[in-house]
Amino acid sequence: MRSLHTWHDSFGVRTTYAKSKTNLRGNPNGALWKPMSLHGLHQDHRCCRRRCEELGTLTLMRSEIDVLTPKTIDEALRLRRQHENAKIIAGGSDLIVQLRDGVVRTNQLLDISSLKELRFIREDQDRIQIGSLTTYNEIINSPIIRKRAWILAESARQIGAAQLQNTATIGGNLGNASPAADTIPPLYALDTTIITRSVAGRREIPIDQFYLGYRKIALLSDELIEQLYFKPLRPDDAGAYLKLGLRGANAISLVDVAVALRERNVNSFSTARVALGAVAPTVKRSLKCEKILQARPLDREIFREAGSVAAQDATPIDDIRASAEYRRNIVSSLVYQALCIAVFRE
Ligand SMILES: Cc1cc2nc3c(=O)[nH]c(=O)nc-3n(C[C@H](O)[C@H](O)[C@H](O)COP(=O)(O)OP(=O)(O)OC[C@H]3O[C@@H](n4cnc5c(N)ncnc54)[C@H](O)[C@@H]3O)c2cc1C
Repeated sequence: MRSLHTWHDSFGVRTTYAKSKTNLRGNPNGALWKPMSLHGLHQDHRCCRRRCEELGTLTLMRSEIDVLTPKTIDEALRLRRQHENAKIIAGGSDLIVQLRDGVVRTNQLLDISSLKELRFIREDQDRIQIGSLTTYNEIINSPIIRKRAWILAESARQIGAAQLQNTATIGGNLGNASPAADTIPPLYALDTTIITRSVAGRREIPIDQFYLGYRKIALLSDELIEQLYFKPLRPDDAGAYLKLGLRGANAISLVDVAVALRERNVNSFSTARVALGAVAPTVKRSLKCEKILQARPLDREIFREAGSVAAQDATPIDDIRASAEYRRNIVSSLVYQALCIAVFRE
């Protein structure tokens, strides 16, 4: 077990750092405590504290966070069952920020980041499987994903920036359940199934049924996301992923779009899946748009129609990044462009 402390000062500057003590409280297996990398927050803490002390107004409230550090998946599942209020932490890129900002409050973390069993990409019997701890870097550099699920590789390439891609995981993106999470639209377009696991066994949940509402997922309190799988794209299938953010890196999507068209017959496809991100409480498919694209010869006129129908399916909100009206226009344009790239490769 590791121990973290969160500190709050009177300016609202809140930081988290790893506390160097050997605290094995509550750890049934006596797993050793070791310092935890918190993406530079330890350093930040010292800076903030010094700044506050210089100003002579430091007031700290302290709350202790214990970190459970299982070494195997079975141990992790047992701990998950025993400590249902513990928050799972993988790469920590969402959760540490949420803890720091007080959006999430907990006194216990279940750190699964060292479970190698959850870190894999496999192609097996016409199915690609990805472990939940797989990082974006591993996805971007996987020949399997680049060749057989390029829309997922493209979305991973556009997430955050290089540092984040080395540590953040696909399971964390699914578990955080943001409507603007960039891997979720391609996973919808690929018709992904998510496998959750608890001590009681595994459940397979189609991605359409995994997201129940704004940041609500069908994960039970004793489960974790183990892996996901989907049918790979064939070379004559068509697919594209496009994202619009406010800058080139570390940008949350204003809108993102993934399309996958399968079973080509010259210029038409039997199945189409079109998924829209950041325009509804969850990532959503545009079913009307998919219908327009299925089983008919495709051209730019149809893509324009598909774009405007997708925009009608979007229910975006105004926020600090963009207005709802702007987002709807972008949906129309991105769907049109994604279809042109997917089918005509231009
Ligand atoms: C600077 C910055 C830039 C970012 N840019 C982007 C971006 O461009 N696009 C984007 O989509 N996101 C972005 N993010 C958000 C974040 O990096 C991703 O959502 C990332 O995939 C989260 O993965 P993680 O492993 O760090 O998850 P964590 O922070 O460890 O966990 C996130 C959530 O998922 C849960 N969780 C994690 N793993 C599991 C599991 N196996 N089973 C069940 N629950 C689990 C945790 O309990 C937590 O609620 C950015 C974040 C930062 C800080």
